[in-house]
Order: sequence, then structure tokens, then C-alpha cells
Amino acid sequence: MIDWKNVKGTVLKIVEAVGKWLWPEVCPFCGKVNRSGICTSCRKEVDQLRIVHPRCMKCGKPVSQPEQEYCYDCMHAHHWYDRGVSVWVHRPPVSTSIYQFKYHNQRRYGALLAKEMVSVYEQTIRKWAPDLIMPIPVHRKRMKKKRL
Ligand SMILES: [Zn+2]
Ligand SMILES: [Zn+2]
Repeated sequence: MIDWKNVKGTVLKIVEAVGKWLWPEVCPFCGKVNRSGICTSCRKEVDQLRIVHPRCMKCGKPVSQPEQEYCYDCMHAHHWYDRGVSVWVHRPPVSTSIYQFKYHNQRRYGALLAKEMVSVYEQTIRKWAPDLIMPIPVHRKRMKKKRL
């Protein structure tokens, strides 16, 4: 008698292996094939963009002085959220990768970028115990443009 449970598992493993062969993991910053995600060269580059203290207590952007609580933007504008954090400063290759993810359907970058966010902020976010974590949605006009 055929053990269908094992057959299903074996078929899924084959499909997964073929999928990885056809669409191998790529570095989300340079787009080159790299089995472990972010390549060594890009890792060095993005480590330079890593946001550390001092940072804005509202949006999480870097601020120049440790005693400065909020960045210029947050002192002059209202945000509809309590607190935000970012792993990196929004400059290339980070900004380029996010642009590719958002506007060029590079959804596989999302998992790698999310993994980085978790590795840096998991404990912080757990401590905050937020009611809701929300990605910043695309503006309605931009969404319409994307669909055309
Ligand atoms: Zn790379
Ligand atoms: Zn700010």
C-alpha cells in the first residue's frame, strides 16, 4: 500500500528544490544570486547605513545630538502613529531595494528585509507590546498608477 503522506511530503520537497533551482535566492540589494540572502559586499555597505543611537523618538531617524528627542521633521509635523523604527537610513542600496520591492514586484526581497527587521527590533517591539503594527500603505493615487 502507498503511504500517501510520505508521497505528498516527497513531492513537496521536489517542488521546493526545483523552485529554488529555477528562482534561486538573490541578494535584495545587488540582485545577484546568493544562497544566503544578503551578499557579503552588500552586508558591509548596509552595515554602514545601520541606524544606531541617537535616533528620533517618534520616527526613528538618526538625530545629531543625544539630547535631541525628535528630528526636525517630527518637531514640525504630526504623525498618525506613536512610534516608528527603521533598520537602515533610506539611502542606496537600501532605498533602491525597497523601491524594487514596492514598485517592481520583487516580493521575494520582502522576506529578507523582514528577517533583518526581526533580527534588529524583535525585542524592542515585544517590549512596546503595540496594539497594531502597520506597514505604511501606498497612497491611493500611486496604487492606481501601479495597477495601470
Ligand atoms: Zn549584494
Ligand atoms: Zn522623527
